[in-house]
Amino acid sequence: MTDTIAAIATPQGTGGMAVIRISGTDAISRADEIFRPVRGKKPSEMEGYTCAYGHIFRDGERLDDVVLTVFRAPHSYTGEDVVEISCHGGRYLTEQILRTVFCEDVRLAQPGEFTKRAFLAGKLSLTQAEAVADLIAASGENAMKAARSLRDGATFRRIHACSETLLMLLSDLAVWADYPDEDIPAVDGDTLAARLEALLDEMRTLLSTYDYGRILREGLHTAIVGKPNVGKSTLFNALSGYERSIVTDIAGTTRDVVEESIRVGGVMLRLSDTAGVRDTDEQIERIGVERSWQYLEQADLVLAVFDTSRLLDEEDQKLLARLPLERTICICNKSDLAKAWEPETLGFSDSIEISAKTGDRLPKLEQAVERFCARRAVPAEDGLIANERQRSCLMQAIDAVQEGLDALRMGLAYDAVTVSLDAAEDALLQLTGERITERVADTVFERFCVGK
Ligand code: GDP
Repeated sequence: MTDTIAAIATPQGTGGMAVIRISGTDAISRADEIFRPVRGKKPSEMEGYTCAYGHIFRDGERLDDVVLTVFRAPHSYTGEDVVEISCHGGRYLTEQILRTVFCEDVRLAQPGEFTKRAFLAGKLSLTQAEAVADLIAASGENAMKAARSLRDGATFRRIHACSETLLMLLSDLAVWADYPDEDIPAVDGDTLAARLEALLDEMRTLLSTYDYGRILREGLHTAIVGKPNVGKSTLFNALSGYERSIVTDIAGTTRDVVEESIRVGGVMLRLSDTAGVRDTDEQIERIGVERSWQYLEQADLVLAVFDTSRLLDEEDQKLLARLPLERTICICNKSDLAKAWEPETLGFSDSIEISAKTGDRLPKLEQAVERFCARRAVPAEDGLIANERQRSCLMQAIDAVQEGLDALRMGLAYDAVTVSLDAAEDALLQLTGERITERVADTVFERFCVGK
């Protein structure tokens, strides 16, 4: 038996409607006390998945007319009895109703507590529960698709399959070790090694999806680089929609890095406008230039800007030599002015002519960014590793299986292999939340908002 919790499930602020959610043993009896139906049954007489129209009363005073929905355990989000009250929006009124719900037996829910209860009731795996938070935070279509597939259990199913394979291997080893005298075929070292290798392959493939998960969560780290005055800040402002970087004719005016999160089609970009790269004796500018080179090395995507209205010079050539080809889109800017050279001169297969100032052909750039992201995308329905916690568990499992495989190849006793595979199994169960400490679960749910 758990205590009963309540919270406002809709965002704070003024809106047409708000929903208050109550979950736990006393949810329905509390609803009986504060809700009077206009006609028909009291909440305790209502069946699950039915609703009633009526009024919320406090100390004899009518607060609001509402629609109340009853969910009966275990057929609810949390697996417990749940009541949802849809009332008129508006912060004051909603809070008054929530206060009316509170009593000795009903308290305010902690962040993520509804979802935590769903997890504890076995309604969701931990990876699915985390996806609920990601869905709420999803800022682009791709992120939402991926979170939804996690919510539907895609990652859980893949991890679970790995964990089942491990269990099978462990049971083969155990049977063979425990009954050496019986007529059980010996575990064949080569077959075992092959199965472990296949398992490692699958786990490594899954691990490689982490990078894409990070991009969906944080956005594609994108650096705009180029020598001073080619139009980096103008491009940055054109993409981010308003003037934030300082645009001037004086070379070297973006002294530091300006950052902005913007959406290009279905892709989120964490866009950085860097200081123009050039040789300089000026100390402050030099720090900025060094930072720009760092950004260029670390970025997921580099937008390298060149000015087609002026001849390419040594600074441009230096930049060209340092560009990471597989992560770069070349931008030939100022297409509204007469051309001093042809884009093909750069030798890049993917170069785009635009005018950052007039906005001409910006959609072409947006398409190129989308194409770039699509090349790195993982099909959402396959599931992916969505956060650092999941990645760290998976890496532990991979290391442990690798250890087991090494032990096998060195000809160590099967006991040594068993110990490693046990550790791998443990890491996978922690990943899905099937074996997890209260503390780890709490850190997962702390990320949630109250009411979810
Ligand atoms: P940054 O130093 O690379 O950030 O360059 P800015 O964005 O500050 O631009 C330098 C100058 O070039 C400014 O006067 C801009 O108005 C101008 N500029 C930028 N993009 C274009 C463009 O597409 N066409 C034209 N004609 N001028 C541009």
